[in-house]
This record gives sequence, C-alpha cells and structure tokens, in this order.
Amino acid sequence: MSAGNKPDFEKIFVQMVAAGWLQQNNTTLDVLRLDLLHPVISGNKWFKLKYYLQNAVQQGFCRIGTFGGAYSNHIAATAYACKQKGVSSIGIIRGEKPEVLSHTLEQAEACGMELHFVSRALYNEPEKLKTNFKDIFWINEGGYGADGAKGASEILSYAGNPEKYSHIVCAVGTGTTLAGIVHSATVQEIIGISVMKGNFSMEEKVNTLLLKEDKRKLFRIVHDFHFGGYAKHPKELIDFMIQTWQQHQLPTDFVYTAKVFYAVKELITDHTIPAGSAVLMVHCGGLQGNGSLPPATLPF
Ligand SMILES: *Cc1c(COP(=O)(O)O)cnc(C)c1O
Repeated sequence: MSAGNKPDFEKIFVQMVAAGWLQQNNTTLDVLRLDLLHPVISGNKWFKLKYYLQNAVQQGFCRIGTFGGAYSNHIAATAYACKQKGVSSIGIIRGEKPEVLSHTLEQAEACGMELHFVSRALYNEPEKLKTNFKDIFWINEGGYGADGAKGASEILSYAGNPEKYSHIVCAVGTGTTLAGIVHSATVQEIIGISVMKGNFSMEEKVNTLLLKEDKRKLFRIVHDFHFGGYAKHPKELIDFMIQTWQQHQLPTDFVYTAKVFYAVKELITDHTIPAGSAVLMVHCGGLQGNGSLPPATLPF
C-alpha cells in the first residue's frame, strides 16, 4: 500500500484522449481521473463512503461493518477510510477463508479491519448476519444506498464544466455511482457499463436510488461488456489494458475501468454514441485490484 496520506482532491484532473477512432467519428473523449485521488480509497469509493462515515461518527458509533468479496475495492476502501477516521471496522467476506489472502484482503487487514468469512449462503442473508454483532454502523455491500449516491453526486463537480459533454459513461457495480451521476447531471445521456453478466435487475436498483425529479433523466445500462462476468479478465482484456496504457498513459483496472474504456471505444466506433459527440468517461479508480494479477502482468 503506497501511502498513509489523505485523499488529495488537487490530483484529480480531466485527461483528453487522442485516437484515430475518435478523430474518424469527430468525437472527443475526456477521462475524469478520480483514480488519482488516493491509491486505496480511490475514486468513487471515497465519494460513496463520505456520508456513511459522517453519519456513523455523528451518531456515536466506534465500529463500522460492511460486506464484500475477496477482491472488493469497497472492502479495501472502507478499511482504509475507517483507519483514517479512527474508527474500527469489520468486513464480512463472502466465501471460505482462503489459505492465502487476496491482495485486497491483506490490505484491509493491514488497516486493522477484522475479517469474518462466511459461506455464500449465509452471505446472502445480511440481516441475519448482522444480529451476530453489536453496536455496529452497517454499510451495505458496495456502499449501495441513498447516502452513497448522495456522495457520488459530488463527482461531476470535479469535471470542470460537465455541461459541455453530450454523454457521460461510468462503470456499474451496485449502480450507486451511476445514480449519483444521474442526479447531478444536466441534460446529458448517462451510460452505465455493467461489469456483471446478465445483471438485468440493475436498472431497477438505480431507479430506487433516484430522486423523483431525476426519474425523467436519460440513463441506460449496457450489458454487453462484462467479458465473461464479474472480475473475469480474458487475455483480450489484459492486452487491451496494456495497449491503453501504451497509447494513452491511462491506467485501468481489470474489474471495472478497462471494461468501460473498451465499451466507450466500441460504442463510439459502432455509432451507438453518434458522431460529433463529446464524451466524458468517469474513471472510478479501483487500481488496487490489479495487485491480485500475477506480478509483471501489467506495465504500470
Ligand atoms: C466499486 C467500483 C465501481 C462500481 O461502483 P457502483 O457505485 O457500485 O456501481 C466502479 N468502478 C470502480 C473502479 C470501482 O471500484
């Protein structure tokens, strides 16, 4: 883990991408580099956690609990953010305890998070699990919820002049970030790229988080770029990540942002995003997850 420092908002910037496939379609692409905010609490996770942590401390809780899998950026970010706030944390982890902890879980443990491994069956009954613990402020898996979306609605304020974009694209895990972006966006079309295979209940999950006045805004979720499913990373995707780094000096993670960048390129090339568009991709971070790839897989 490379740093004990606080999130640094000065580091966020908008990177312009130059490529033949953009020029040919008379389209511009900017990337909002939230990944630069912090190496662990990167990108959207800090925004999503902000109000939960504030509420927990205000309500006098000293312990925060949440849920996730072995590669969850949310687990890593929560552990780190709690350490910074001086509150203790527990993580309910899906599945048997592995012999060797994943990079993500190792990091979470190093931040003082107490890990509890539970069977997949039990994991799916969070309300029951919660009764085993006392005096804990619970945050949903992935930070899903209204306060998460409220935090995420502050993301676009770092994009300079977000009104100038015709399309805004981001990854969708729980849909909390997408809901926050839809809430804060003006007239743009918002496109979420689902990183899960066939997770068609996602539209409804996002709608649940939207405020009444948001419901008429345009958003859509594209389900065609999961590369086999959550955290699946065939060689084609890894090669694309290496190429994206070499061509644009843009680092991506294999769970979310690589699939989004790939999708953006495809959607522009096949004119789903029409020629003449101005596209903003929100890079939500997650680079710590690449630590679970074999060493030297990536050049960044
Ligand atoms: C967690 C995460 C997401 C998913 O965000 P949701 O709000 O759960 O949809 C997207 N991108 C990155 C890099 C993430 O770490």
